[in-house]
Amino acid sequence: MADQKRILILGGGYAGVWAGKILEKRFRKRDDVKITLIDKLPFHTLMTELHEVAGWRTEPESVQVPFRKIFATKKIDVVLDTVTGVELDRKLVKTERGEYAYDYLVVGFGAQPEFFGIPGVKENSFTLWSFDDAMKIRNHVEDVWTRAAAEPDPDKRRKLLTFVVAGAGFTGIEMFGELVEHRDVMCRKHHIDRSEVRIVNVEALPSILPILEEPLRAATEKYLAKHGAEMMLNTPIVGAEPGKVLLKDKGAIETETFIWTCGVSGSSFAAGLGLAKAERGRGRLQADSGMGAVGHPGVYVAGDNSFLLEDGKPVPQIVEAAHQTAEVAAANIIEEIEGTGKRHEFKSNFHGFMVSIGGRYAVANAGGMKSKGFIAMAMKHMINCWYLLNIAGVNQVWEYVKHEFLDMKNGRSFIGSFASYKVRGYWPLLLRMWLGLMWVMEGVNKIGEGWLAWGSGSKSGWMFSQGVVQAGQKVAEATSAASAEWVEGAETAVEATAAASGEWVEPAAEAVAAASEWVAEGAEAVAEGATQAFGKVWDLTQAIIPYDSGFVTWFRQTFMDGIFAFLPFQAFQLMIVAMEIGIGLALFGGLFTWVAAVASIGMCFVFTFSGMFAWDQLWFVFAGILMMGGAGRAFGFDNWMVPFLKRWWNGTKFARKWHFYGDDPSK
Ligand code: NAD
Repeated sequence: MADQKRILILGGGYAGVWAGKILEKRFRKRDDVKITLIDKLPFHTLMTELHEVAGWRTEPESVQVPFRKIFATKKIDVVLDTVTGVELDRKLVKTERGEYAYDYLVVGFGAQPEFFGIPGVKENSFTLWSFDDAMKIRNHVEDVWTRAAAEPDPDKRRKLLTFVVAGAGFTGIEMFGELVEHRDVMCRKHHIDRSEVRIVNVEALPSILPILEEPLRAATEKYLAKHGAEMMLNTPIVGAEPGKVLLKDKGAIETETFIWTCGVSGSSFAAGLGLAKAERGRGRLQADSGMGAVGHPGVYVAGDNSFLLEDGKPVPQIVEAAHQTAEVAAANIIEEIEGTGKRHEFKSNFHGFMVSIGGRYAVANAGGMKSKGFIAMAMKHMINCWYLLNIAGVNQVWEYVKHEFLDMKNGRSFIGSFASYKVRGYWPLLLRMWLGLMWVMEGVNKIGEGWLAWGSGSKSGWMFSQGVVQAGQKVAEATSAASAEWVEGAETAVEATAAASGEWVEPAAEAVAAASEWVAEGAEAVAEGATQAFGKVWDLTQAIIPYDSGFVTWFRQTFMDGIFAFLPFQAFQLMIVAMEIGIGLALFGGLFTWVAAVASIGMCFVFTFSGMFAWDQLWFVFAGILMMGGAGRAFGFDNWMVPFLKRWWNGTKFARKWHFYGDDPSK
C-alpha cells in the first residue's frame, strides 16, 4: 500500500509488548497501518521472575510467555529474527534474515549486566538478566549439588557447597533468597548436612536493598539470617579468578558458583545504533520528554534502554517505568499518525516495589503501604496476575496459578503444599463408576415409573405449579387423571385382599396377639431408654429446601413454569430420562467426564431448588466436583478424547481470540 504507515517495534520485552498492545488496539481496524515486532526469541520473558527458574522454584516455562499467545489473532506481525543494524537515514532495520522499512520505530532492547571493568568478573561469573542466564544457573546449581554429594575431598566439597551472590539490589536479594530456600531441598535430597553449605551475599554498601525503607530492609535481613544465610556488607568485590571471588581487604572466597547481580547498563547493541546516548546513562539512549530519540523524528526509545531525567533523577529501570515509557511512545506515534499535533510527555506514576525472598516471604512497599510476609507475597502474586491478564488473558493467569501454586514442589509457596498435593487419577475411579451407575439407575427407574408411558399422563408435574398449562395440557388435570387411575387400582386391590383374608384371619389374629405382646414389652424398654437418649438428631432424608418453601415456589414459578409451560411434558420427560442415563453412562465410561460432571451438579441444583433433593443425596455434588479434575482420564475414554478435543478447540478462532485455549493456542 503506497501510503501505508509502518510501525516497527524492536524487542518484545516489557516495553515492546506494552507498546505493541496499545498500538494494535488503536489501529486494528486500519489497513493502512502495519505493525511489526521483531525479537530474536519466540517468547516474552518475565524478567522479574527469572530467579525462580534459576533457583529451581518454578519450571522454565513459567517465565516464558510465547508471543503467539500475547498476539494471537491480533493484527501485528511478530518476526523471529535478530536485528543486526538500523540505517537511520534510510529508515531501514536490517536483520539476519532481511530488512524492514519503517516510518515509526520503537527501540526496546532492554538492559544488560554491567561489570564496571572489574577484572575477571565477566569471565568467571554467572549473570541473571535473560532466560538463558537463568537456565545456566539452574543447570549449574543442580550439577554442583550432585558433584558435592559424591565428593570425598573436604576442600573440593566445601568449594562446591559455597554459593556467592554479588550485590544486594533487587536481583541479588531475590536470587539469594531462592538459593537459601533451595538449599534445604537439596540437603534433604543429597543427604548433606546444612552446616556444610555456605550461601553468601557480598555487598559493597553498608546495607541491603538501598531503594527500600529501613523497616523492610531490617525485616529482610532478619529473615535471611534466621534461615542461615550469610551477609557480607561493606565488602566491595575487586576481582574474580576461576573458582575465586576477590574481596577488598577481606581476602577471597573459594566457590564454584559466583552470581553477579551488581547492576545493569543499557543494551550495548542499542547503544551502537547511532542514536544519542545519555551522559550519565551507562549506555542508555537519551529520550526527550515524549520518549522520542533525540534528533531522530519518528524514532522512540522505551524501557530499560532509554534514559530520561525526571526532577533531576534518572527514571529507574523497572517494569512500571518500561510500561509508562512505552505508553508515552505509543501515544505519540498515534498522535503523529492521526495528525492531531498533540504531544504526550512522560510523567512517572510508580506504585512501589516488591521483593520476594524465596517463595514463602516477601517485602513490599506498594502505594505507600509497607508489608512483609504473607501480605507482601500475596500482593506480588496479584500484581503478576494482573500483568499477565493484560498481556495474554486468562489462560496465562491460569498458567501462573499452576506454576506458582498448583504444581509447586517442595512447598515453596507462601501457602506451602496446601494447593499442590495431587490425588492420583485412579483413586476416584470406583466413585466415578458408582456415580455414573446411580444416574443410570435413576433414569431407568423413571422409565419403570412410567415417565415414558405417555398415556399415563405427566409424571413430572411436581416441577410445575398447579394449573400451569403445559403444552396445552393443564398439569393439575393430568396429575388428577393419573391419580384417579391409581385410586381405582388401589380399590380393586383392597377388594381382592378382603376376599382372600377370610382364609388366614384366624392364624393371623394369633400371630398379631403374640406380636403385640412383644411390641408392648419392647415399647416399655424403649420408653425407659428414651429418658436417657434423645433419639434421631438429623433426618437426612429431608429435602434440603422444603417443597412448600417460598424459595422453591419462586423458583418453580420463575423458571419451571416459564420455561417448560409450553414444552410438551412428553418431551420434557424424555429429556430428563435421556439426560440422567446419558450423564450416567458418560461418567461410568469416563467419556466427556468434565461436561457430565458439570451436568450432574447442575441437575442436583435444579432438583434442590425444586424442593426434591435431600441431604443424604448431597454427595452427588461433591463427587461431581471431584470428577471435574480429570477423573475420566484414568481408565476412561477421556484418555483419548480430551487430547483430541483440545487440539481442535485450541485451533478455533474463538479460543485464540479470547485466550480461552488450554495450554497453548496452536493446533
Ligand atoms: P541494583 O543496581 O539495584 O543493585 C546492585 C547492587 O550491587 C547495589 O546494592 C550495589 O551497591 C552492589 N554492587 C555494585 N558493585 C559492587 C561490587 N563491586 N561489589 C559488591 N557489590 C556491588 O542492580 P540489580 O539488582 O541488578 O537491578 C538492576 C535494575 O533492575 C534496577 O534498576 C532494579 O531496580 C531493577 N529490578 C527491579 C526488580 C523489581 O522491581 N522487583 C527486580 C530486579 C531488578
